[in-house]
Amino acid sequence: MTTAFVDGSVIIGDGRVLEHATVIVEGEKIVKVAKGNVNIPEDAQKIAMDGQVLLPGFIDSHVHLCMDSSPDPMTSALSESQTMTALKAANFGRQTLLAGITSVRDMGGKDGIDLGIRQAINYGLIPGPRMLASGKLICMTGGHGWQFGLEVNGADEVRRAAREQIKAGVDIVKLMATGGVLTPAVEPGSEQLTEAELRAGVEEAHKAGKSTATHAMGTKGILNALRAGIDSIEHGVYLDEEAVSLMKERDVPLIPTLSALFNIESKGIEAGIPAFAVEKTLKVKPYHLESIRMAREAGVRIAMGTDAGTPFNIHGANLSELKFLVDCGFAPMEAIEAGTRIAAQVLGVDKELGTVEEGKLADLIMVEGKLLDNIEILLKRESIRLVMQGGKVVKYA
Ligand SMILES: [Zn+2]
Repeated sequence: MTTAFVDGSVIIGDGRVLEHATVIVEGEKIVKVAKGNVNIPEDAQKIAMDGQVLLPGFIDSHVHLCMDSSPDPMTSALSESQTMTALKAANFGRQTLLAGITSVRDMGGKDGIDLGIRQAINYGLIPGPRMLASGKLICMTGGHGWQFGLEVNGADEVRRAAREQIKAGVDIVKLMATGGVLTPAVEPGSEQLTEAELRAGVEEAHKAGKSTATHAMGTKGILNALRAGIDSIEHGVYLDEEAVSLMKERDVPLIPTLSALFNIESKGIEAGIPAFAVEKTLKVKPYHLESIRMAREAGVRIAMGTDAGTPFNIHGANLSELKFLVDCGFAPMEAIEAGTRIAAQVLGVDKELGTVEEGKLADLIMVEGKLLDNIEILLKRESIRLVMQGGKVVKYA
């Protein structure tokens, strides 16, 4: 099967735009990206781009398909059957893909359901984004996320938990370095797993060739995780100069997940979000925005991640994160790169995905409108005219 996207504007994903370009897809791969006259195979299905923009499928570096974006998603997931959570997660995966997000990194599932969803997508049983999954997160007893996680104490127990998750087939080991917003009676700024505990988890993951990520809000916890050799900092609310320079030096990316913050703030207690979560969100917000500014200025890589599944942070509305990044001072092209090339690096799939280049997998979307002038175009579902994943058209409207 050959498809040719003819005569349009192509956002490569590395900052370049090709005008009047043609992109040819053969099987699951991109075989030609060129300007001007290109030989198109006769049997190719031709798609005239007609003023539309072709770009890489987006990659969300931080979602929770096992969470349903209800006002209190932890409680709701605990009150339903595993079957219900799994069916909902399958539906969320489909919505995510149709919105133009062709890959995700799931950062904390429940009861191994995320691993099952990943398997069903890979098997072709259900439509969904390519998925890297972290299985059960690893936290201290009573620590942030304990409702879904493995509660451990001491380096040996972290080691055991990491080994168990690797045995279960995770792609990433998720370690909780600090408190968070959605767990009651847990301070976002507080340290949780110790440096020695984090190091044990990182060691086990790296031995098995897996990457690690940490939920890290408070400064001390962020520093513990960085010293322990963590591969990505999720949220990064209270960064300081030392943390930023360590991230820069070790090339550790930041995934700010602004969507979580802004959805909790805009909907608030009136919408049924627990008061403790709203209060903590409002308290951390100014520090979070300042941390993102510091990291960006220092040249730390920042990737798009939404924390989709948290209150009112809807699966399928993931691209709102790009608008929030632009509101934080990102140029639209820079925000697009955060959701394509940089996110592909965070997932470790940048050799195959993240840019429109010959030899890469054909995960592509076609968008109506001038999104470099107005990134909010991406927030309207009808703007995403076409979604292709591995050379197969999964949406064309
Ligand atoms: Zn999360």
